[in-house]
Amino acid sequence: MLKPDSVEKGNIGAILEKVTASGFRIVAMKLTQLTKADAEAFYAVHNERPFFGELVNYMTRGPIVAAILEKENAVQDFRTLIGATNPAEAAEGTIRNMFAESISQNAVHGSDSDENAGIEGAFHFSEREMF
Ligand code: GDP
Repeated sequence: MLKPDSVEKGNIGAILEKVTASGFRIVAMKLTQLTKADAEAFYAVHNERPFFGELVNYMTRGPIVAAILEKENAVQDFRTLIGATNPAEAAEGTIRNMFAESISQNAVHGSDSDENAGIEGAFHFSEREMF
């Protein structure tokens, strides 16, 4: 996902350019907005964390770009491309280093396993939206 801060700042094109230039194929993509229930479900693993309310508010405040990406070793390579959760710790040239402002508003989401990538892809897209 390109998170609401990326959409608000007009960074969709610049981020997608880095993603496709890094060898990812776009299998599915849409501009959409998460409801509170969507965000609470998507981030359910964090629901005991002190930042959960802030995270849900942030993720629902405006549109996001949802996408499914394909590549050899996609999960690991995408996490390398986006950089550390905290942009202050994200390596030079990573998406979060270039486009994120804080640990909470960190520009992009990437799945953390193949299993979760499947679950998260199905959360956003139906079969006929995947190519
Ligand atoms: P990710 O896999 O790199 O996105 O990181 P996590 O799964 O640990 O956290 C999910 C999201 O919650 C992050 O991308 C941030 O938007 C937010 N988040 C994580 N840690 C913190 C924190 O310490 N404070 C706040 N405010 N938000 C956080």
